[in-house]
Amino acid sequence: MKIAVLGGGITGLTAAYHLSKKGHQVTLIEKEKVLGGLAVGFKAKGWDWHLERAYHHLFANDYDIINFAKEIGFNKIFFRTPVTSSLYEEPRGYKILPLDTPIDLLRFPYLGLIDKLRAGAILAFLKVSPFLGFYERVTSEDFLKISMGKNVWNRLWQTLFRGKFGDYAGIILASFIWARINKRTKKLGYIEGGFQEFIDHLIEKLKGEKVTIMTDHEIMDIKKRREGFTISGKVYDKVISTLPTPVMVRLTKNVFSKKYLEKFSKLKYLHAVTLIIETDKPILNETYWLNICSDKIPLMLLAQHTNFIDIKHYGGRNIAYTGWYVKGDDKKLRMDKKQILEMVMPYARKISKNKFKVIDYHLFKGAFAQPIFDREFAKNRPGFKTPIKNFYVANLDMTYPYDRGTNYAVKLGREVSEMIR
Ligand SMILES: Cc1cc2nc3c(=O)[nH]c(=O)nc-3n(C[C@H](O)[C@H](O)[C@H](O)COP(=O)(O)OP(=O)(O)OC[C@H]3O[C@@H](n4cnc5c(N)ncnc54)[C@H](O)[C@@H]3O)c2cc1C
Repeated sequence: MKIAVLGGGITGLTAAYHLSKKGHQVTLIEKEKVLGGLAVGFKAKGWDWHLERAYHHLFANDYDIINFAKEIGFNKIFFRTPVTSSLYEEPRGYKILPLDTPIDLLRFPYLGLIDKLRAGAILAFLKVSPFLGFYERVTSEDFLKISMGKNVWNRLWQTLFRGKFGDYAGIILASFIWARINKRTKKLGYIEGGFQEFIDHLIEKLKGEKVTIMTDHEIMDIKKRREGFTISGKVYDKVISTLPTPVMVRLTKNVFSKKYLEKFSKLKYLHAVTLIIETDKPILNETYWLNICSDKIPLMLLAQHTNFIDIKHYGGRNIAYTGWYVKGDDKKLRMDKKQILEMVMPYARKISKNKFKVIDYHLFKGAFAQPIFDREFAKNRPGFKTPIKNFYVANLDMTYPYDRGTNYAVKLGREVSEMIR
Protein backbone atom coordinates (compact mmCIF):
# COMPACT_ATOMS: atom_id res chain seq x y z
CA MET A 1 0.00 0.00 0.00
CA LYS A 2 1.36 3.45 -0.92
CA ILE A 3 0.83 5.83 1.98
CA ALA A 4 1.59 9.55 2.15
CA VAL A 5 2.24 10.97 5.61
CA LEU A 6 1.83 14.73 5.48
CA GLY A 7 4.00 16.66 7.93
CA GLY A 8 7.36 15.65 9.39
CA GLY A 9 6.81 16.51 13.05
CA ILE A 10 6.94 13.77 15.68
CA THR A 11 3.42 12.52 14.86
CA GLY A 12 4.31 12.11 11.19
CA LEU A 13 7.68 10.53 11.92
CA THR A 14 6.14 8.02 14.35
CA ALA A 15 3.25 7.15 12.02
CA ALA A 16 5.72 6.65 9.16
CA TYR A 17 7.84 4.37 11.36
CA HIS A 18 4.96 2.07 12.36
CA LEU A 19 3.47 1.94 8.87
CA SER A 20 6.78 1.11 7.23
CA LYS A 21 7.35 -1.61 9.84
CA LYS A 22 4.08 -3.15 8.66
CA GLY A 23 5.47 -3.30 5.15
CA HIS A 24 3.74 -0.30 3.58
CA GLN A 25 5.49 1.94 1.07
CA VAL A 26 5.58 5.23 2.97
CA THR A 27 6.39 8.74 1.78
CA LEU A 28 6.80 11.47 4.40
CA ILE A 29 6.34 15.02 3.10
CA GLU A 30 7.54 18.06 5.07
CA LYS A 31 7.60 21.70 4.04
CA GLU A 32 10.63 22.71 6.12
CA LYS A 33 14.23 21.81 5.29
CA VAL A 34 14.48 19.96 8.61
CA LEU A 35 12.20 17.38 10.22
CA GLY A 36 10.83 17.63 13.75
CA GLY A 37 8.10 20.29 13.50
CA LEU A 38 7.41 22.13 16.74
CA ALA A 39 9.97 20.02 18.62
CA VAL A 40 12.84 20.72 16.22
CA GLY A 41 16.16 21.84 17.66
CA PHE A 42 19.14 23.87 16.50
CA LYS A 43 22.79 24.02 17.47
CA ALA A 44 24.60 27.34 17.83
CA LYS A 45 28.36 27.63 17.43
CA GLY A 46 30.23 26.06 20.34
CA TRP A 47 27.33 23.92 21.57
CA ASP A 48 27.55 20.11 21.90
CA TRP A 49 23.82 19.64 22.34
CA HIS A 50 20.87 20.79 20.28
CA LEU A 51 18.34 23.11 21.87
CA GLU A 52 14.64 23.15 21.01
CA ARG A 53 13.33 26.28 19.30
CA ALA A 54 10.58 26.21 21.92
CA TYR A 55 11.24 25.09 25.52
CA HIS A 56 10.64 21.34 25.89
CA HIS A 57 10.64 18.86 28.73
CA LEU A 58 8.81 15.62 29.50
CA PHE A 59 6.76 14.56 32.49
CA ALA A 60 7.62 11.40 34.42
CA ASN A 61 4.32 9.83 33.27
CA ASP A 62 4.86 10.47 29.55
CA TYR A 63 4.81 6.71 29.07
CA ASP A 64 4.02 6.71 25.35
CA ILE A 65 7.26 8.42 24.40
CA ILE A 66 9.27 6.65 27.11
CA ASN A 67 8.10 3.23 25.90
CA PHE A 68 8.43 4.08 22.22
CA ALA A 69 11.98 5.30 22.82
CA LYS A 70 12.78 1.89 24.36
CA GLU A 71 11.13 0.12 21.44
CA ILE A 72 13.37 1.88 18.93
CA GLY A 73 16.52 1.44 21.02
CA PHE A 74 16.79 5.05 22.13
CA ASN A 75 17.98 5.31 25.73
CA LYS A 76 18.81 8.97 26.19
CA ILE A 77 15.79 10.18 28.16
CA PHE A 78 16.62 11.21 31.71
CA PHE A 79 14.71 12.82 34.57
CA ARG A 80 15.55 15.30 37.28
CA THR A 81 13.69 17.71 39.55
CA PRO A 82 14.51 21.30 38.68
CA VAL A 83 13.21 24.26 40.66
CA THR A 84 9.96 25.74 39.37
CA SER A 85 8.57 28.97 40.83
CA SER A 86 6.18 31.82 40.24
CA LEU A 87 6.87 35.53 40.27
CA TYR A 88 4.51 37.83 42.16
CA GLU A 89 4.26 41.58 42.33
CA GLU A 90 5.09 43.28 45.63
CA PRO A 91 4.45 46.93 46.50
CA ARG A 92 8.15 47.47 45.84
CA GLY A 93 9.49 45.02 43.28
CA TYR A 94 8.77 41.33 42.82
CA LYS A 95 8.98 38.12 44.80
CA ILE A 96 9.83 34.68 43.43
CA LEU A 97 8.07 31.87 45.29
CA PRO A 98 8.00 28.10 44.80
CA LEU A 99 4.49 26.73 44.42
CA ASP A 100 4.98 23.05 43.75
CA THR A 101 4.13 21.21 46.93
CA PRO A 102 1.38 21.38 49.59
CA ILE A 103 3.99 22.95 51.92
CA ASP A 104 4.69 25.70 49.35
CA LEU A 105 0.95 26.39 49.19
CA LEU A 106 0.67 26.56 52.99
CA ARG A 107 3.55 29.02 53.09
CA PHE A 108 2.11 31.16 50.26
CA PRO A 109 1.85 34.67 51.70
CA TYR A 110 -0.93 36.15 49.56
CA LEU A 111 -3.84 33.93 50.63
CA GLY A 112 -5.58 33.23 53.94
CA LEU A 113 -5.55 29.75 55.49
CA ILE A 114 -9.13 28.91 54.43
CA ASP A 115 -8.37 29.81 50.80
CA LYS A 116 -5.20 27.74 50.89
CA LEU A 117 -6.95 24.70 52.34
CA ARG A 118 -9.72 25.00 49.76
CA ALA A 119 -7.23 25.33 46.92
CA GLY A 120 -5.21 22.38 48.26
CA ALA A 121 -8.30 20.16 48.53
CA ILE A 122 -9.40 20.91 44.94
CA LEU A 123 -5.88 20.38 43.58
CA ALA A 124 -5.75 17.01 45.37
CA PHE A 125 -9.17 16.13 43.94
CA LEU A 126 -8.14 17.06 40.38
CA LYS A 127 -5.01 14.96 40.74
CA VAL A 128 -7.00 11.78 41.42
CA SER A 129 -10.29 12.51 39.65
CA PRO A 130 -10.92 10.70 36.35
CA PHE A 131 -12.03 12.85 33.42
CA LEU A 132 -15.64 13.88 34.06
CA GLY A 133 -18.16 15.10 31.46
CA PHE A 134 -18.78 17.97 33.85
CA TYR A 135 -15.37 19.46 33.00
CA GLU A 136 -16.65 20.17 29.47
CA ARG A 137 -19.73 22.01 30.69
CA VAL A 138 -17.95 24.72 32.63
CA THR A 139 -15.03 27.03 31.92
CA SER A 140 -11.78 26.77 33.90
CA GLU A 141 -12.39 30.26 35.25
CA ASP A 142 -15.86 29.44 36.59
CA PHE A 143 -14.74 26.07 37.91
CA LEU A 144 -11.75 27.52 39.75
CA LYS A 145 -13.69 30.52 41.09
CA ILE A 146 -16.51 28.34 42.38
CA SER A 147 -14.36 25.53 43.77
CA MET A 148 -11.33 27.42 45.09
CA GLY A 149 -12.86 30.85 45.56
CA LYS A 150 -12.38 34.21 43.85
CA ASN A 151 -9.29 35.16 45.87
CA VAL A 152 -7.51 32.05 44.74
CA TRP A 153 -8.52 32.66 41.12
CA ASN A 154 -7.25 36.24 41.31
CA ARG A 155 -3.99 35.36 43.01
CA LEU A 156 -3.01 31.99 41.56
CA TRP A 157 -4.68 31.51 38.21
CA GLN A 158 -5.89 34.66 36.50
CA THR A 159 -2.56 35.92 35.16
CA LEU A 160 -1.45 32.41 34.19
CA PHE A 161 -4.55 31.91 32.06
CA ARG A 162 -4.25 35.39 30.59
CA GLY A 163 -0.57 34.82 29.91
CA LYS A 164 -1.19 31.57 28.06
CA PHE A 165 -4.51 32.23 26.32
CA GLY A 166 -4.77 36.03 26.14
CA ASP A 167 -8.31 37.15 25.19
CA TYR A 168 -9.43 33.53 25.15
CA ALA A 169 -8.59 32.95 28.84
CA GLY A 170 -12.25 33.18 29.91
CA ILE A 171 -13.55 30.49 27.53
CA ILE A 172 -11.07 27.69 28.24
CA LEU A 173 -12.92 24.59 29.46
CA ALA A 174 -12.29 23.12 32.91
CA SER A 175 -11.09 19.98 31.08
CA PHE A 176 -7.86 21.90 30.42
CA ILE A 177 -7.15 22.54 34.10
CA TRP A 178 -8.13 18.98 34.99
CA ALA A 179 -5.63 17.59 32.46
CA ARG A 180 -2.96 20.05 33.52
CA ILE A 181 -3.12 19.12 37.20
CA ASN A 182 -3.78 15.44 36.58
CA LYS A 183 -0.76 15.00 34.32
CA ARG A 184 1.89 17.28 35.83
CA THR A 185 4.81 15.68 37.66
CA LYS A 186 7.50 17.36 39.67
CA LYS A 187 10.14 15.28 37.94
CA LEU A 188 10.85 16.59 34.47
CA GLY A 189 12.54 14.77 31.64
CA TYR A 190 14.96 15.80 28.96
CA ILE A 191 16.96 14.07 26.28
CA GLU A 192 20.76 13.78 26.14
CA GLY A 193 21.72 15.92 23.17
CA GLY A 194 18.26 17.55 23.03
CA PHE A 195 14.93 16.40 21.56
CA GLN A 196 16.60 16.60 18.14
CA GLU A 197 18.56 13.45 19.07
CA PHE A 198 15.28 11.56 19.32
CA ILE A 199 14.11 13.04 16.01
CA ASP A 200 17.41 12.12 14.31
CA HIS A 201 17.23 8.59 15.74
CA LEU A 202 13.73 8.22 14.30
CA ILE A 203 14.89 9.56 10.92
CA GLU A 204 17.64 6.92 10.84
CA LYS A 205 15.03 4.25 11.60
CA LEU A 206 12.86 5.53 8.74
CA LYS A 207 15.80 5.43 6.38
CA GLY A 208 16.44 1.83 7.49
CA GLU A 209 12.82 1.01 6.66
CA LYS A 210 13.20 2.63 3.20
CA VAL A 211 10.70 5.42 3.86
CA THR A 212 10.87 8.12 1.18
CA ILE A 213 11.50 11.39 2.99
CA MET A 214 10.73 14.63 1.15
CA THR A 215 11.83 17.78 2.98
CA ASP A 216 11.63 21.38 1.79
CA HIS A 217 8.46 20.33 0.01
CA GLU A 218 5.36 22.34 0.84
CA ILE A 219 2.16 20.54 -0.09
CA MET A 220 -0.01 23.01 -2.00
CA ASP A 221 -2.96 20.87 -2.96
CA ILE A 222 -4.46 17.41 -2.49
CA LYS A 223 -6.72 15.87 -5.11
CA LYS A 224 -9.12 13.00 -4.68
CA ARG A 225 -9.11 10.42 -7.47
CA ARG A 226 -11.55 7.57 -7.98
CA GLU A 227 -9.03 5.40 -6.17
CA GLY A 228 -6.60 7.21 -3.92
CA PHE A 229 -5.23 10.75 -3.86
CA THR A 230 -2.80 12.88 -5.85
CA ILE A 231 -0.25 14.95 -3.97
CA SER A 232 2.45 16.88 -5.82
CA GLY A 233 1.85 14.81 -8.93
CA LYS A 234 2.18 11.42 -7.20
CA VAL A 235 -0.62 8.98 -6.43
CA TYR A 236 -1.13 7.40 -3.00
CA ASP A 237 -3.66 4.81 -1.80
CA LYS A 238 -3.94 6.36 1.66
CA VAL A 239 -3.14 9.68 3.27
CA ILE A 240 -2.43 10.60 6.88
CA SER A 241 -2.47 14.32 7.56
CA THR A 242 -0.55 15.49 10.63
CA LEU A 243 -0.73 19.09 9.41
CA PRO A 244 -2.30 21.78 11.57
CA THR A 245 -6.07 21.60 10.97
CA PRO A 246 -6.33 25.06 9.30
CA VAL A 247 -3.59 24.03 6.83
CA MET A 248 -5.34 20.74 6.12
CA VAL A 249 -8.62 22.60 5.51
CA ARG A 250 -6.90 24.89 2.98
CA LEU A 251 -5.40 21.94 1.09
CA THR A 252 -8.43 19.65 1.01
CA LYS A 253 -11.14 21.88 -0.44
CA ASN A 254 -11.41 19.41 -3.35
CA VAL A 255 -11.34 16.34 -1.12
CA PHE A 256 -13.92 17.00 1.60
CA SER A 257 -17.44 18.44 1.57
CA LYS A 258 -17.96 22.05 2.62
CA LYS A 259 -19.98 20.82 5.58
CA TYR A 260 -17.16 18.67 6.94
CA LEU A 261 -14.59 21.45 6.59
CA GLU A 262 -16.94 24.12 7.97
CA LYS A 263 -16.91 22.66 11.48
CA PHE A 264 -13.16 23.26 11.67
CA SER A 265 -13.68 26.97 11.01
CA LYS A 266 -15.00 27.11 14.60
CA LEU A 267 -11.61 26.11 16.01
CA LYS A 268 -9.33 28.85 17.28
CA TYR A 269 -5.54 28.78 17.60
CA LEU A 270 -2.67 30.86 18.88
CA HIS A 271 0.79 30.92 17.34
CA ALA A 272 3.94 30.50 19.42
CA VAL A 273 6.73 33.07 19.59
CA THR A 274 9.87 32.15 21.55
CA LEU A 275 12.98 34.16 22.25
CA ILE A 276 16.14 32.37 23.40
CA ILE A 277 18.70 34.53 25.15
CA GLU A 278 22.33 33.45 25.65
CA THR A 279 23.98 35.35 28.50
CA ASP A 280 27.26 35.37 30.42
CA LYS A 281 25.55 35.10 33.83
CA PRO A 282 22.15 33.44 34.43
CA ILE A 283 19.06 35.66 34.36
CA LEU A 284 17.54 33.45 37.07
CA ASN A 285 19.43 31.85 39.92
CA GLU A 286 18.34 28.25 40.69
CA THR A 287 14.88 28.45 39.11
CA TYR A 288 14.39 26.58 35.85
CA TRP A 289 10.77 27.50 35.19
CA LEU A 290 9.32 30.81 36.31
CA ASN A 291 5.63 31.53 35.78
CA ILE A 292 5.09 35.25 35.57
CA CYS A 293 2.08 36.16 37.70
CA SER A 294 2.20 39.90 37.24
CA ASP A 295 0.17 42.10 34.89
CA LYS A 296 3.08 44.52 34.80
CA ILE A 297 5.43 42.09 33.05
CA PRO A 298 4.26 41.19 29.52
CA LEU A 299 6.04 37.82 29.48
CA MET A 300 4.29 34.50 29.94
CA LEU A 301 7.31 32.79 31.47
CA LEU A 302 11.03 32.82 31.85
CA ALA A 303 12.75 29.44 31.65
CA GLN A 304 16.41 29.31 32.55
CA HIS A 305 17.19 26.16 30.61
CA THR A 306 20.71 25.93 32.03
CA ASN A 307 19.29 25.59 35.55
CA PHE A 308 17.78 22.34 34.25
CA ILE A 309 20.49 21.16 31.84
CA ASP A 310 24.22 21.60 32.36
CA ILE A 311 25.63 24.77 30.87
CA LYS A 312 28.65 22.82 29.58
CA HIS A 313 26.56 21.49 26.68
CA TYR A 314 26.06 25.04 25.38
CA GLY A 315 29.63 26.27 25.32
CA GLY A 316 29.38 27.58 28.88
CA ARG A 317 26.63 30.03 27.99
CA ASN A 318 23.55 30.54 30.14
CA ILE A 319 20.39 29.93 28.16
CA ALA A 320 16.96 31.35 28.93
CA TYR A 321 13.67 31.19 27.06
CA THR A 322 10.80 33.56 27.13
CA GLY A 323 7.74 33.37 24.94
CA TRP A 324 4.14 34.08 24.12
CA TYR A 325 1.14 32.52 22.43
CA VAL A 326 -0.34 35.13 20.12
CA LYS A 327 -3.21 35.71 17.72
CA GLY A 328 -2.55 36.01 13.98
CA ASP A 329 -2.69 39.82 14.07
CA ASP A 330 -0.26 40.22 16.99
CA LYS A 331 2.59 42.59 16.25
CA LYS A 332 5.13 40.16 17.73
CA LEU A 333 4.66 37.99 14.64
CA ARG A 334 5.95 40.86 12.52
CA MET A 335 8.72 42.04 14.86
CA ASP A 336 12.30 40.96 14.23
CA LYS A 337 14.51 39.38 16.88
CA LYS A 338 16.22 42.64 17.83
CA GLN A 339 12.89 44.38 18.40
CA ILE A 340 11.65 41.49 20.53
CA LEU A 341 14.86 41.41 22.56
CA GLU A 342 14.63 45.17 23.18
CA MET A 343 11.08 44.71 24.40
CA VAL A 344 12.05 41.86 26.75
CA MET A 345 15.27 43.20 28.23
CA PRO A 346 13.91 45.83 30.65
CA TYR A 347 11.75 43.14 32.27
CA ALA A 348 14.50 40.50 32.29
CA ARG A 349 16.78 43.02 34.01
CA LYS A 350 14.09 43.87 36.53
CA ILE A 351 13.50 40.22 37.39
CA SER A 352 17.17 39.24 37.50
CA LYS A 353 19.40 39.69 40.52
CA ASN A 354 22.46 39.45 38.26
CA LYS A 355 24.13 42.00 36.02
CA PHE A 356 24.22 39.85 32.91
CA LYS A 357 25.37 40.52 29.36
CA VAL A 358 23.54 39.22 26.30
CA ILE A 359 25.92 37.24 24.09
CA ASP A 360 23.49 36.10 21.41
CA TYR A 361 19.76 35.57 20.92
CA HIS A 362 17.41 33.65 18.65
CA LEU A 363 13.76 34.12 17.72
CA PHE A 364 11.35 31.41 16.52
CA LYS A 365 7.72 31.34 15.51
CA GLY A 366 5.45 28.29 15.34
CA ALA A 367 2.13 28.45 13.51
CA PHE A 368 -1.10 27.10 15.08
CA ALA A 369 0.90 25.84 18.05
CA GLN A 370 -1.79 26.24 20.71
CA PRO A 371 -5.40 25.19 20.09
CA ILE A 372 -7.99 26.93 22.21
CA PHE A 373 -9.88 24.32 24.22
CA ASP A 374 -13.29 25.95 24.35
CA ARG A 375 -16.80 24.49 23.88
CA GLU A 376 -16.54 24.73 20.09
CA PHE A 377 -13.25 22.87 20.22
CA ALA A 378 -14.67 20.02 22.29
CA LYS A 379 -17.54 19.69 19.76
CA ASN A 380 -15.71 20.18 16.46
CA ARG A 381 -12.13 18.92 16.85
CA PRO A 382 -10.97 16.39 14.27
CA GLY A 383 -10.81 12.63 14.79
CA PHE A 384 -8.65 9.99 13.13
CA LYS A 385 -11.30 9.02 10.59
CA THR A 386 -12.75 11.40 8.00
CA PRO A 387 -15.81 11.06 5.73
CA ILE A 388 -13.46 10.14 2.89
CA LYS A 389 -12.25 6.56 3.03
CA ASN A 390 -8.46 6.19 3.28
CA PHE A 391 -7.89 9.80 4.39
CA TYR A 392 -6.89 9.97 8.08
CA VAL A 393 -6.00 12.80 10.43
CA ALA A 394 -3.61 12.68 13.39
CA ASN A 395 -2.64 16.11 14.60
CA LEU A 396 -2.04 18.04 17.78
CA ASP A 397 -5.71 19.00 18.14
CA MET A 398 -6.32 15.39 19.03
CA THR A 399 -4.38 15.41 22.30
CA TYR A 400 -7.39 17.06 23.95
CA PRO A 401 -8.05 17.28 26.88
CA TYR A 402 -4.28 17.08 27.37
CA ASP A 403 -2.23 20.01 26.16
CA ARG A 404 -0.22 19.08 23.08
CA GLY A 405 3.12 17.40 23.70
CA THR A 406 5.65 15.06 22.12
CA ASN A 407 4.30 12.19 24.25
CA TYR A 408 0.91 12.54 22.55
CA ALA A 409 2.50 13.01 19.14
CA VAL A 410 4.08 9.57 19.56
CA LYS A 411 0.75 8.16 20.77
CA LEU A 412 -1.18 9.66 17.82
CA GLY A 413 1.39 8.38 15.34
CA ARG A 414 1.02 4.87 16.72
CA GLU A 415 -2.77 4.97 16.99
CA VAL A 416 -3.33 6.22 13.44
CA SER A 417 -1.01 3.55 12.08
CA GLU A 418 -3.06 0.89 13.91
CA MET A 419 -6.11 1.93 11.86
CA ILE A 420 -4.39 0.92 8.65
CA ARG A 421 -3.96 -2.75 7.94
C1 LIG B 1 6.00 26.79 22.83
C2 LIG B 1 5.85 25.31 22.84
C3 LIG B 1 6.28 24.58 23.94
C4 LIG B 1 6.14 23.20 23.97
N1 LIG B 1 6.60 22.51 25.05
C5 LIG B 1 6.55 21.16 25.05
C6 LIG B 1 7.11 20.42 26.11
O1 LIG B 1 7.63 20.97 27.07
N2 LIG B 1 7.06 19.06 26.04
C7 LIG B 1 6.49 18.40 24.99
O2 LIG B 1 6.50 17.18 24.98
N3 LIG B 1 5.92 19.08 23.98
C8 LIG B 1 5.93 20.44 23.98
N4 LIG B 1 5.39 21.14 22.94
C9 LIG B 1 4.53 20.44 21.98
C10 LIG B 1 5.24 19.59 20.97
O3 LIG B 1 6.29 20.27 20.35
C11 LIG B 1 4.20 19.18 19.93
O4 LIG B 1 3.08 18.62 20.56
C12 LIG B 1 4.69 18.16 18.94
O5 LIG B 1 5.97 18.48 18.46
C13 LIG B 1 3.68 18.12 17.80
O6 LIG B 1 4.11 17.27 16.79
P1 LIG B 1 3.19 17.09 15.51
O7 LIG B 1 3.95 16.24 14.58
O8 LIG B 1 1.84 16.62 15.90
O9 LIG B 1 2.97 18.55 14.94
P2 LIG B 1 4.04 19.55 14.25
O10 LIG B 1 5.31 19.44 14.95
O11 LIG B 1 3.35 20.86 14.15
O12 LIG B 1 4.20 18.91 12.79
C14 LIG B 1 3.43 19.28 11.69
C15 LIG B 1 4.39 19.41 10.52
O13 LIG B 1 3.66 19.74 9.34
C16 LIG B 1 4.49 20.59 8.56
N5 LIG B 1 3.68 21.29 7.56
C17 LIG B 1 2.80 22.30 7.78
N6 LIG B 1 2.25 22.68 6.60
C18 LIG B 1 2.77 21.89 5.65
C19 LIG B 1 2.58 21.77 4.23
N7 LIG B 1 1.73 22.56 3.56
N8 LIG B 1 3.31 20.84 3.55
C20 LIG B 1 4.18 20.00 4.21
N9 LIG B 1 4.39 20.07 5.54
C21 LIG B 1 3.69 20.99 6.26
C22 LIG B 1 5.12 21.50 9.61
O14 LIG B 1 6.26 22.16 9.10
C23 LIG B 1 5.42 20.52 10.72
O15 LIG B 1 6.72 19.98 10.61
C24 LIG B 1 5.53 22.52 22.88
C25 LIG B 1 5.12 23.24 21.75
C26 LIG B 1 5.28 24.63 21.73
C27 LIG B 1 4.84 25.38 20.52
